[in-house]
Amino acid sequence: MHPQVKKLLDLQKLDQHIASLRRDLDALPAETAKRQKVLEARRQDAAAKDRAVQDAEVAVRNLELSVKQGDDEIKKLDGRLNTVKNNAEYQATLLQIESVKRERDRMQEEALGLLDKLAPLRAARDEARAAVSAEEAVFEKFLAEARALTEAREAEIAKVAAGRADHLTGLPPDLVARYEKLFRSRDRLAVCAVEGQVCQGCYNRITMNDVARLRGGSSIVECGSCNRILYLRDDEA
Ligand SMILES: [Zn+2]
Repeated sequence: MHPQVKKLLDLQKLDQHIASLRRDLDALPAETAKRQKVLEARRQDAAAKDRAVQDAEVAVRNLELSVKQGDDEIKKLDGRLNTVKNNAEYQATLLQIESVKRERDRMQEEALGLLDKLAPLRAARDEARAAVSAEEAVFEKFLAEARALTEAREAEIAKVAAGRADHLTGLPPDLVARYEKLFRSRDRLAVCAVEGQVCQGCYNRITMNDVARLRGGSSIVECGSCNRILYLRDDEA
C-alpha cells in the first residue's frame, strides 16, 4: 500500500471514531428544539385556558355589577311609585319597573350560567398548568442529561483528537485537504478498499490499469466513479 494512503487510512479510523462520538451530540440541537416545541405548545394551551377563566370571571363580575345596578334602579323606581301624581304615571312606572326587572333577571341568569361553566374551565386550566409543570420537569431533566453527555463526549473527543496532529505529519497538505473533503462528502469514507476489482465505497468496477497501479503501490489511485482514495487489501495486493 502507498505509505501516504496507509497514513490516511489510520487518520480516517481516528476521524470515524471522533465522528461516531459526535453523532449523539449532533442530534442534540434538533432533539432540544423538538422538546421545546412540545413544551411551548403546552404553555400556550395553559395560557389560553387561563384567559378563558379570566374572561369568564370578568364577565360574571360585570353581570353581577349590572344586576346590582338593576336592583338599585328598581328600588329607586319603587320609591317613585309613592310620589307619582296620577294613575298614568303610576302605570308607566310599573311598566318601567317590570322592564328593568326582566333585564336584571336575564343578567342574573346569564351570570349563574357562567358560574356553572367556571368550575370546569378552572379544572381544565389547572390540568393544563399541571401538564406544563410536568413537561418542564421532563425538559429540565433532558437538558441536564444533554449537558452531562456533551461534557463527557467533548472530553472524550478532545482526548481522541489530541493525537490527530501526529497522523498528519508526512502528509502533503493538498492530499489532506482532498481527504477531508471526501470524508465530509462521502459519508465518512474517503479511503476505501477495492475487493475483486470493485470499489467498496460505490461498488463500481475499477480498471485493470488502476488495479495494477494499486499493486505497484507507488501512486495514489482514486475511484473513477466516486473519487474515493483506494487501496488493496493485503490479500489482494
Ligand atoms: Zn468508488
